[in-house]
Amino acid sequence: MLPQSLGEAGYYTYGTPVRGQGQYAHPKILSLIFQVAHRWASMDSRSFGVGNISLPGGVAFPPHKTHQSGLEVDIRPLRRDGKPLPVDWRDRQYDRAATGKLIELFLASGVVKGVLFNDLVIPRVKPRISHDNHFHLDVTL
Ligand SMILES: [Zn+2]
Repeated sequence: MLPQSLGEAGYYTYGTPVRGQGQYAHPKILSLIFQVAHRWASMDSRSFGVGNISLPGGVAFPPHKTHQSGLEVDIRPLRRDGKPLPVDWRDRQYDRAATGKLIELFLASGVVKGVLFNDLVIPRVKPRISHDNHFHLDVTL
């Protein structure tokens, strides 16, 4: 399970069910999050929000169609005010430059095979319905 964090680790945790019950993760996702959070913390004082990964046992995780392997994670875009709250990419609080940098860090890891997000100004993201207030990362095994 992803260690729960209020931001002191470079990331903060959110999502349902609460207290990390939806954050059971493959070790590859854990190392990716730790690695990116470490780099991110050296560049920016805001932490990024990590949401749903998988439920224990890899059972179905509605409303997600995926999120059963522990190799997918939803991340919130950065807000200008840095508050640990959701933001839509069409919102005034949305920080495109910072979100783009964060996605770049994830992609630079070499283990991310796809990013689903509807702000198509950001390079290498693909659109997907309802991916407006988070981006979805798919990690290779
Ligand atoms: Zn997702």
